[in-house]
Amino acid sequence: MNVTVIGGGLMGSGIGQVAAQAGMKVTIIDVSEESLKKAKKRITDSVHKFAQKNLIQDHEGVLANLAYSSNWESVSQADVIIEAVPERVELKKETFKKLDQLAKDDCLLATNTSSLSITKIASVTSRPEKVIGMHFFSPVPMMPLLELVKGYKTSTQTYEFAREVGEKLGKRMITAEKDFPGFLMNRIWLPMVNEACFAVMEGVGTPEEIDQGFIDGYGHTMGPLKTIDMAGIDTALWAMEALYEGFNDPKYRPCPLLKKMVEAGDLGRKTGQGFYSYS
Ligand code: NAD
Repeated sequence: MNVTVIGGGLMGSGIGQVAAQAGMKVTIIDVSEESLKKAKKRITDSVHKFAQKNLIQDHEGVLANLAYSSNWESVSQADVIIEAVPERVELKKETFKKLDQLAKDDCLLATNTSSLSITKIASVTSRPEKVIGMHFFSPVPMMPLLELVKGYKTSTQTYEFAREVGEKLGKRMITAEKDFPGFLMNRIWLPMVNEACFAVMEGVGTPEEIDQGFIDGYGHTMGPLKTIDMAGIDTALWAMEALYEGFNDPKYRPCPLLKKMVEAGDLGRKTGQGFYSYS
């Protein structure tokens, strides 16, 4: 199976890695050479770690399944395309317009969006029935969950194909039967994280105390603020904005502290500073 991943950031590199580990031929496409370089390093380091723990037998074979590119040549060969560009609807639409022109007719067109409308993204293509949400969780090589999201026009055949791909990738799946902002997981999780940001902004507690509370009180392995530092403060803000705009409901208003941090460039682990400092 030929897979092309569009966007080689945190999620795209994780998705590319699990597909390569599943024996698929993978091309990761990114507009930035710098991102491609980082993706290659991130994947190579991760695959070596898996090999050291005997979780992968043929690590050279896995790495040989991967190609990195800034051109779109692989798109016309792909059986499956998974888009993982930043969470901006105009960018997603532009990407899917281009994919619609280049991908073969029976190609599965999936988006890894965290919160945006699958239906809206699919609407710019001539084949909305072939478009589906395949929402992976970070870090993709470690997290077993894959949330499938049916758009308004996603066909049963497309859904079945996406399930087959998810099974090959070794994921456990849940399905959002309807396309509402944030689907099943982020509709519930993001407002909670947003509330944690309000608690920090209002000085009710520190990120350390909130995160510790979630670990010791609720049995989470990582607290909400460390988790969005990992995911990206920008990604979390954009997803929260999508909930707010998608439902037109003030209960989803993004915390001003999140906006301030994005304006200041404190995007979490990837920039070295978020709710925590990373040297
Ligand atoms: P990221 O910023 O780490 O990576 C995005 C990549 O896309 C960058 O490398 C960037 O150079 C590239 N890019 C930008 N424009 C492009 C274009 N036109 N063509 C090709 N590549 C382009 O972001 P991410 O965290 O990997 O998020 C990607 C998607 O996955 C978003 O929709 C996000 O909501 C979703 N998602 C993120 C998480 C998370 O924990 N970060 C979890 C689930 C889903």
